[in-house]
Amino acid sequence: MAAEQPKPQTRKPVLLSKIEAFQDIVTTAVIIPKEDGVISVSEDRTIRVWLKRDSGQYWPSVYQTMSSKSVASRSLVIYIYIYIYIPEFILAEDYNKMTPARTYQAHQGRVLVVLFVLEMEWVLSTGQDKNFTWHCSESGQQLGTYRTAACVSGLQFDVETRHAFVGDQSGQVTILKVEQDSCSMVTTFKGHTGNVTALCWDPGQRVLFSGSSDNSIIMWDIGGRKGTAIELQGHNDKVQGLCFASHTRQLISCSSDGSIVIWNMDVTRQETPEWLDSDSCQKCEQPFFWNFKQMWDSKKIGLRQHHCRKCGQAVCGKCSSKRSTIPLMGFEFEVRVCDSCHESITEEDRAPTASFHDSKHSIVHIHYEATTGNLLTSGTDKVIKVRVPQFSHYSALVLPSIRNH
Ligand SMILES: [Zn+2]
Ligand SMILES: [Zn+2]
Repeated sequence: MAAEQPKPQTRKPVLLSKIEAFQDIVTTAVIIPKEDGVISVSEDRTIRVWLKRDSGQYWPSVYQTMSSKSVASRSLVIYIYIYIYIPEFILAEDYNKMTPARTYQAHQGRVLVVLFVLEMEWVLSTGQDKNFTWHCSESGQQLGTYRTAACVSGLQFDVETRHAFVGDQSGQVTILKVEQDSCSMVTTFKGHTGNVTALCWDPGQRVLFSGSSDNSIIMWDIGGRKGTAIELQGHNDKVQGLCFASHTRQLISCSSDGSIVIWNMDVTRQETPEWLDSDSCQKCEQPFFWNFKQMWDSKKIGLRQHHCRKCGQAVCGKCSSKRSTIPLMGFEFEVRVCDSCHESITEEDRAPTASFHDSKHSIVHIHYEATTGNLLTSGTDKVIKVRVPQFSHYSALVLPSIRNH
């Protein structure tokens, strides 16, 4: 499918600062809430705490070498992953010292994701042993473990209903009901054709977003109970990270090609239609190539079957020669539509519901900090960039035309 990027919005997220002092790629980094600081973990086995000095530059205040891969944090406690262990560290209030507290022996294989749930005092984790495990962060005790179908690379938790969402490398998302010492499977969602690379939960609207190596994002309406799943197609490469900005109701996604997409989630999007099956074009009635009988009868050469992304009808190439974006169906890139659907799509319908930005590095990780609205990206260029996404301007620019619907 030839995908063309819609025109980018005029204003871009503003780059605030860069941290370039890395020997190796930073696999995970978090912005310290309410502080001008960053905790980073890189492939060169260092964990560092950076504080912004008056000069505007970030300087390391703590530097420690460990064979660690990733990091999760809460105010002054850091959890990192060291092979099969999750050590917990306490950061001094002046951010100048990091003291080891305890180590969770969580998995038999490499730890993949760690999530700390303050309200429950739980440390949730997944590993290459295909186990989902949860520990009490007060006692350090393991509370329970659950075997997942495949390795889990995305993990989210809903505090109110105690459901965990796990996205795995088979492309499946599983919902687990987690009790103090037990866990049961509620349901699974299948929609991606590649690994689930990131999950993001919006507790307000009770919507789960899953990003995948198939370049797509799916928005699963969990709370609405209608089971709707809406595709968001705005990336040309593997989706690497997802964050939800609840105060502006925007989803931020990024992909390996460096693009950052800011999706306006205040608009109502529609589900894409099921693709219909037909032996002949549902517009001009010419037979498709496998319809031998009709081909014989009408002595016509069979045509290739295509599908209109708007109505789902099986159509031939001639009857679907035009392309259009369909932002309200999540298609921010131009897709195949049949001629009659093409006529029905107005200019207003084509108003983008997302804005597209270039981070200028191949992103491996993003982190969004809600209190400052800052967005951190880490790239394969061994650089961390911190940006202000400029939400207000974007909303003013795009929302009015959408709200007229
Ligand atoms: Zn046709
Ligand atoms: Zn159509």
